[in-house]
Order: sequence, then C-alpha cells, then structure tokens
Amino acid sequence: MIQSQYFRGTRKSVSSARLLLINPRFPESFWSFRWALQEILPSRYAVNPPLGLATIASLTPAYWQVTILDENIEALPTSPDADIIGIGGMAVQYARQRELLDYYRSKGYHVVAGGSYASLSPESYSNHADTIVVGEAERTWPEFCQDFMNNSTRRVYQETDWISLEESPTPRFDLLKLERYTTASLQFSRGCPYQCEFCDIPLLFGRRPRTKTPDQIGRELDALRKAGARNVFFVDDNLIGHQPRARVLLEYLADYQQRHDYPFGIGTEASVNLASNSELLKLFGDAGFRWVFLGIETPDTESLAEAGKKQNLKSDLLEAVYNFYRNGISVFSGFIVGFDNDTPKSFSRLYEFIVRSGIQVAMLGLLTAVPRTPLYERLASENRLRHDVPPGDNTGGSTNVIPLGMTYEEMVEGYDRIYRDLCSDKNIARRVRNKLRHFGTPRRPGNQHRRESLALASRLLIHGILRGGPRRVAAFAWSLAGYPPKLWPIALQDWAYALSIRSYARRHIGATQSHEQAMLRQAVMRLTRQLRKQHIKHKLDLIMEHTGNRLRLKIVVKAGLAGNEARSLARFTHRILARLPAIRVALQFHEVSTLGRGCIQNLVEPLRRHADRITVESNSSLLSWLDSSVFHIATIDGQ
Ligand code: SF4
Repeated sequence: MIQSQYFRGTRKSVSSARLLLINPRFPESFWSFRWALQEILPSRYAVNPPLGLATIASLTPAYWQVTILDENIEALPTSPDADIIGIGGMAVQYARQRELLDYYRSKGYHVVAGGSYASLSPESYSNHADTIVVGEAERTWPEFCQDFMNNSTRRVYQETDWISLEESPTPRFDLLKLERYTTASLQFSRGCPYQCEFCDIPLLFGRRPRTKTPDQIGRELDALRKAGARNVFFVDDNLIGHQPRARVLLEYLADYQQRHDYPFGIGTEASVNLASNSELLKLFGDAGFRWVFLGIETPDTESLAEAGKKQNLKSDLLEAVYNFYRNGISVFSGFIVGFDNDTPKSFSRLYEFIVRSGIQVAMLGLLTAVPRTPLYERLASENRLRHDVPPGDNTGGSTNVIPLGMTYEEMVEGYDRIYRDLCSDKNIARRVRNKLRHFGTPRRPGNQHRRESLALASRLLIHGILRGGPRRVAAFAWSLAGYPPKLWPIALQDWAYALSIRSYARRHIGATQSHEQAMLRQAVMRLTRQLRKQHIKHKLDLIMEHTGNRLRLKIVVKAGLAGNEARSLARFTHRILARLPAIRVALQFHEVSTLGRGCIQNLVEPLRRHADRITVESNSSLLSWLDSSVFHIATIDGQ
C-alpha cells in the first residue's frame, strides 16, 4: 500500500523511495511478430525489453527500491508498492501511456512521464503527469531523484544539451525478465549525421553521433552473457553514424566474440552506405552481426531526393542488399509510400524491388509526419495534415499525411495491395529464392543449441508450413530446391518472419472494408436473432462503428449475463473474429460491480487468442484482475 507521507503535495523530505518503472503495452504491429512468438517461440512474450527503463534504473540512487514492469509481458498491479511511478513510451504507446499515467495519478502516486514522445511533445502530458522528463535523462533523472527526496520536484526536467554517452551507466539488465524476450537490447551510439525529412532521430539525439567506449560495451555484454542472453540488438538508429568509432567497436566485438566462443547473434540498424565499404562490411560480419535493418524507403530516386535521403542515392540499392547477402548477413528494411513524388504507378516499382531484393522483413509504412520533424512543419504550412489520425504507428494502414500525387484512398489501396501480393505463399518463396541466390556462407550463429534449433524448425513446419495446405508445402519445397542444406536455416527463418507478417497483415491490413462490413452486418443480425431467442437482447447493445479506418463491433453489456449466456456470446464473438480478420471488437462493461466478475470473465477469457483485436472498456476496477498484458484495457470517462 502507498504510504500517506508520499501522497502528492503532503509529504516531508524522505531518505529513500520506491520507484516503479512501467513500459506500456504496444498496440500490435509488424514488429510484434505475434504469430512467431505464439506458434514457434511460446516461451517468449515480446521481442525487445525496455532498455530505456533499465538505464533509468541504473541512474537511480542505489539505495532506492526499483522495479521494472513491462506490460507487454506481464500484468500491472492496481496498487503497487511504490512512491513514484515512471511511465515511458514512444508515440505509438502514447494512448496507453496516458491512460496509465491518469490511473496511477488518480490513486495518489507521483507519476513521471518520459520516453521519446515526451521529449518530442511534452505539452501532450501537461494534464497527465506530475513530472515530465524531456530529452536524455542521464543528468536530469538523478536531479529529479534528489529533488524528490527534498520534496522539491519540478514539473519539467529538460535536458537542453547532448550528454556524453560515456556518462551513461550500464543498464540494470538484472531488473528485466530477459528470458521472456527473444532479444536483449543495448546501445552504442545516439544521433545520426543525416537529415531525412520525416525522421525524428536528429531532433531527439542530434546530428553528431555520440558513442560509448568499447569497454562500456564490453561490460554490458558481460552482464548480458551472465543473464543468459544469446541474441542481442544494438538499438542504435545508425550504428555506423560515426564510422571511425564504429570500426573500433566492430574490431572490439569481433575479438570479444572470438574470446567467448561466439556467445551472441547480433542485429542492428545502419545506413545503406555500409554496403559500399567492403572493409567495414567484412568487420561487421566478423563481429557477429547476422542481420541489419536498412532504411531503404523507396527505389524511386526522385522520392529519395525529396525526402533528403541522399546517402541512398549514392549506390545501387539492389546491389547494396546483395552485398550484405554475400557477406552472410540478412537484410530487413523499412519502405515508405506516400512521398509527394509518389503516384499510383510507384507501387508496382516498389513491389518489384522488394521481390527482387529477397527482403522478407519488408516493413512497409505510409509516410507519417511526426511532430516537430521538418516534414511535419512543411505539411502543416501546406495544410496537408490530418488531425484525426494520431502519429505513431505508420504500419497500421492510416496516416496523418494528405498525399500529393494520388488520393488518400489510392494510397491506402495501393499499400494494402502490395501487402496482399507480398504475403502470398508463392511470393514468400520467390523472395527466399532471390535471397539464397546471392547468399554467402551464413555467419556463425549465436550460441544456440542444436536441439533447440531442431525444435524451432519442427514447430515452423507443423504450425506454419503444413497448416498452410498443399500449396504452401509446395511453395516451401520450391523455395529450398537446389540450395545447399547450409542455407536452409536462413530460409526457415525467413518463412517464420514472413508468416508472422502475413498473419498481421491479414488481421490488420488489406481487408476490403465494404466486404467485411457487409459480412459483419449479417453476423450482427444473426446474433441479434439469437439474443432475442435467449431473451437477453435487453442486456446488450450491439454497435458497428469505425475507429480510424477500421471497422469495430462494440458489445455493450448493460446487465449481468448468466454463465451459459456469456459463454454463448463469447462463442459467437469468436466466430466473428475468426472469420473477419480485419474486424476489431470492444467489450464495454457498465457498472462492473453489479455485473459481477464471473460474468465478465466468462465472456472475456474464451477470447484470449484474439486479444490483440479486443479492447475491454470499463471503469478502472477491472484492471485489478484482468490481465492487461493480454487484453487492451481502456477506461471509460465519467465512471
Ligand atoms: S539515416 Fe535513418 S536515422 Fe538517420 S536521419 Fe535518415 S532515417 Fe533518420
């Protein structure tokens, strides 16, 4: 229970405090890889742990009690044993971050908002947090902790300079439940020398890359090795932003990996020009990098020039990708549609590029204007921003940008079509073949046990390939035909990624709205008839509505349902969700106390497998027992 001396505005100076740091739930995106986690890696709940919170934890006085909770892997308590609750988040987490800030603040905790979105848009938190941390926290967080103990906290702690990363301590990896993630994270540099118009990184971290020393990285790797991590992700936005220092790091990593018998498989983000520096590229592979995320964005040179992505204009982008393959390194890439120069014809060029490149993890997004970026400022001055779409997730099929070379509808339609085409079994297989054709010797994998690899492969075959029927089995066999077995693990991995992306795209993108709308209308009519037959129609309202560009069925439960009534409603809802992959459902409960926990549980629990498409709306008392790491829980105003 929270102690009274810590209630806002009433306490005296204290000598210690209990800090709870929370990473809010992400809405599902391509990056969630939900299908792969559920079907192939069931012991993992999420991809990356909240590295920023682990860094904040290590900046906190050693004598404070610090806990980190990640809503993506665990439920949050209603009344945590804490004095301060710090909630971080990116733009895509903003809605949930705000809900949590409001909830814990209403209970008397001192709540602190931080993270990249708080740095970009601190005004968005002015009514939701007691304290807002803006910018890098290495200096301001210890200052806040000191002020908290003296009962003299300020509203805003703003870093106005770029800190030296050599001041940044080793994150408290010990506070993260690393065994629940596929990949551990660490950071070498912040900042990027380029200035792409749509990107917020130069704003957040500056244009002069700052780096940690190899010894700092060595200490972090030692801690991760001790914690049992085997896959690591350097979260740098551009690992080679400062090439001389990147070279020193890569040499250090190559040596580290060799000394410790290659404990880690590594991935990161880098700019495309890494491909044209053969010496650096070889070092990159020797250091144990098995994949790299490149911001290719578009094969259209005019669009690249428009976006200020000059570094991509200097090389042949297809050759750049093949160069990574020749060095045994997989390529993931981000692509964007909706540049001013893009027209409906751009989609086929982009599609052709992605197929020829063999890139399976092709994160295609609609151009999105993030506040304060040069793109945002320009479009605002041209009156081309939509304010009904929040900035954040640019892979959800909607954007705040009004395009120039086509209508908004043409843009969304073209985007949906590319995904539909890319996600066919035949196309997945074509890309696997186009990649393997150029692939050299795969890099030595991280310290993964043979038995574990076989288990993963068999789960992929059973849950992914065989379940797809004879066509998928044939496409899978063709994708491997003629290639040596040493390349098969690369192909299997790509199938796992591709099926994850396919699963997401089927549920979130590309459904023909009018078709689904007609089917949903029929389903609602059937459900209404059934409810009447059961004499319970008066207990429910069924509402079809649009949220953003998505269709949603809202089921409002106004009175208690008996066990069999709730279970039958759950079965019907399950059928709707299973048949109509783009539909979302909101289950709204009024008067939770009179409905009873049993009624809600009987309805909600059978729908766990569709949880990413379900929002449970009610008053906040639900939070206490419904697993918020599974269901998205929203509070209704005024209750
Ligand atoms: S290269 Fe990448 S990180 Fe750097 S400004 Fe461009 S998009 Fe941002």
